[in-house]
Amino acid sequence: MIAQVSPFWLVKSLPEMSKDEWEQLCDGCGKCCLQKLEDEDTGDLYYTDIACQYLDQHSCRCKSYESRLEKVESCISLSLQRLDEFSWLPSSCAYRLLLEGKSLPEWHPLVSGESDAVHKANCSVRNKVISENDVPETEWEDHIIEGVINL
Ligand code: SF4
Ligand code: SF4
Repeated sequence: MIAQVSPFWLVKSLPEMSKDEWEQLCDGCGKCCLQKLEDEDTGDLYYTDIACQYLDQHSCRCKSYESRLEKVESCISLSLQRLDEFSWLPSSCAYRLLLEGKSLPEWHPLVSGESDAVHKANCSVRNKVISENDVPETEWEDHIIEGVINL
């Protein structure tokens, strides 16, 4: 008789996951590396199609992952200590989905078994963004993405 083992993300809460499991949750969409603007009056957060200069726009991975926190002041390391801040993450982000008790989408690498599935499903920022180096900050407002946080 062979015992069925449930996938870790179905049986463990975020705080129960190992470091490796935690890292595997990232689907590589690259959305959290887009520049965001906050409305000073309402606190609403708006995503733009402007990417951090260190984002590889094809792989949608950070080109400077190990030193990212020293290089980019606004770069955030997602961690259990910051769970209460995850509301700024895009609605498709696995960390946010699990925190809200939702399921991972079928294209998530852990579900599909394909690391490229996020791109095939058109759920990453691949070929959709421009580098912050190419847009003056005074023009960022013109690059706000419709749909605000739900991208
Ligand atoms: S938004 Fe979430 S899933 Fe996408 S790259 Fe960022 S941490 Fe990973
Ligand atoms: S430095 Fe931070 S925000 Fe910039 S690409 Fe790397 S992980 Fe993303």
